[in-house]
Amino acid sequence: MHPTILEINKENLIYNVLFFKNKLDKSTKLLAVVKAYAYGSDAVLVSKSIEPYVDYFAVAYTKEGLELIQNNITKPILVLHAQPENYLQIIKNDLEPNIYSFTGLKEFIKTASSQNCLNYPIHLKFNTGLNRLGFKPEEIPEILEIVQKTDVVKIKSIFSHLVASEDPNEKEFTLQQIDTFNKIKNTFNKILNYLPIYHLLNTSGVVNYPKAQFDMVRVGIGMLGFANDKNTTSQLKNVLTLKSKISQIHTLKKGDSVGYNRAYFLEKDGKTATIPIGHADGISRKLGNKNGFVYINNQKVPIIGNVCMDMIMVDVSDTHSAENDIITFFNTQKDIMEICNKLQTIPYEFFTMLSRRIERKLII
Ligand SMILES: *Cc1c(COP(=O)(O)O)cnc(C)c1O
Repeated sequence: MHPTILEINKENLIYNVLFFKNKLDKSTKLLAVVKAYAYGSDAVLVSKSIEPYVDYFAVAYTKEGLELIQNNITKPILVLHAQPENYLQIIKNDLEPNIYSFTGLKEFIKTASSQNCLNYPIHLKFNTGLNRLGFKPEEIPEILEIVQKTDVVKIKSIFSHLVASEDPNEKEFTLQQIDTFNKIKNTFNKILNYLPIYHLLNTSGVVNYPKAQFDMVRVGIGMLGFANDKNTTSQLKNVLTLKSKISQIHTLKKGDSVGYNRAYFLEKDGKTATIPIGHADGISRKLGNKNGFVYINNQKVPIIGNVCMDMIMVDVSDTHSAENDIITFFNTQKDIMEICNKLQTIPYEFFTMLSRRIERKLII
């Protein structure tokens, strides 16, 4: 067992999922976005924990969907960035592709008919302003012409993604996107003789634009306890805790240096502790030289010198610490935001930087 562990608190995870569920109308479905290892945690542990409370899962890439299928996740899985080279694998594993271009649509129908599919569920993504993936609204007639000519595929859902759902300064743009999406919905509903699921909102969208929840919402970062603003985040519970333990304590003299390139010199006689986590684990070198901290017995101590690939050193002169003592890197949203601010990043990036070498453990 590796001593550096990212704990995933199951109870708090479920609490957050229910927080969003309770914000929604009873009939609105909840899709859990578990791409990128559930935002750097563990997609299988997270998905298994929340499967009873959600209606749908989404991953970015096909191989992420396969991991869920292989671990017996049974709720439907939308592959947000499905690519033609994986269409056959998608079909063979009952994954559901996001189709965002004519190239993709035609290729998927071709692959699905080679497998004798009937009404294979596909999801159509529209570009309403992000300019990343998606059909243009004016392409609807051509899409319908293709889809209505075949019974190989069926439109299970139609969706789009907001550009700046968390930014009140971009409210006007967001309302424009919502309006465009409503028009897309109306156009399809006039022609189709069945009702696809319509969905637009991510975590911040649910917080700021609940009226635009349509039939389903897609929540990712919110499940881990971060949402939009301080106030909403404070109503959520922290899910991820990063822990390790002291490998060795050094008693050093004033003037001794610590670590590579002698980046730190002791100002007085003292003690340092070496901890088995480094930049290969996703702990940026920017947290070295007293920019970052860890907690030992609830006392905050600075990371000193340069962050090594596999280790950091902290100054424990003013603590009663011993080898094998547990240290905590973060266990509250406040700790995590403090680290993110130091790194000039956001939890989305910080969590996904935590490398696979760190053990993941579900705390039940
Ligand atoms: C990642 C993603 C989400 C989830 O966004 P959060 O802000 O984490 O809730 C929703 N929809 C799409 C298309 C995404 O790529």
